[in-house]
Amino acid sequence: MGDRQVHRECVPYHEAGHAVVAYCVGVTFDAVSAMPGHGFKGQLEGWRWDGVLCGTRGRQGVQGLVMTALAGPIAESLLGQQPEQQEASDIARKDDEQQATSIAECILDKLKCPRDSRAQRIVDAVRPKTSEAFQDSSIRRGVEALAQRLLGSRRLGYSEVASVMAEAGLHTGYYWDTHSPCAEIAGLPMLG
Ligand SMILES: [Zn+2]
Repeated sequence: MGDRQVHRECVPYHEAGHAVVAYCVGVTFDAVSAMPGHGFKGQLEGWRWDGVLCGTRGRQGVQGLVMTALAGPIAESLLGQQPEQQEASDIARKDDEQQATSIAECILDKLKCPRDSRAQRIVDAVRPKTSEAFQDSSIRRGVEALAQRLLGSRRLGYSEVASVMAEAGLHTGYYWDTHSPCAEIAGLPMLG
């Protein structure tokens, strides 16, 4: 695989990472898009947690949203690093980190917890969990399959993503079959 090919697949892999992790943690979304080429054009559209922030399911939602934000750059690393793709990746990585922190702050506000350093602690605790998720061969296969589909289609709705995921052996909430929310998330006082 030449440099050009790696660069072309960088955005599809990044966005597929967001979408596959979202799907596996039960975060819903409207669509995922990825435009190959220079610059960084792609996004997971309309993603959200439809559940209430209470109990175990609520904790899964909190961790799932942060994992979804962090998943893009980690999925890109499946391709290996190429110098010419780093600029675009670094901008996207900063955006994703910022978004993960904003999500954690927003949730802490909803739970009426002081933000202090807790939002950053949540992001720091969830980051390694997100990396670990990519060690699952079904999740990696899902990212590869979705990235390939995005190279052709450029934009896929949630139901189209769901059919690619089913072929890879993944279902909504797949991650929670074998994992529980991490200690930092488990310590959150939930609503209700
Ligand atoms: Zn991203």
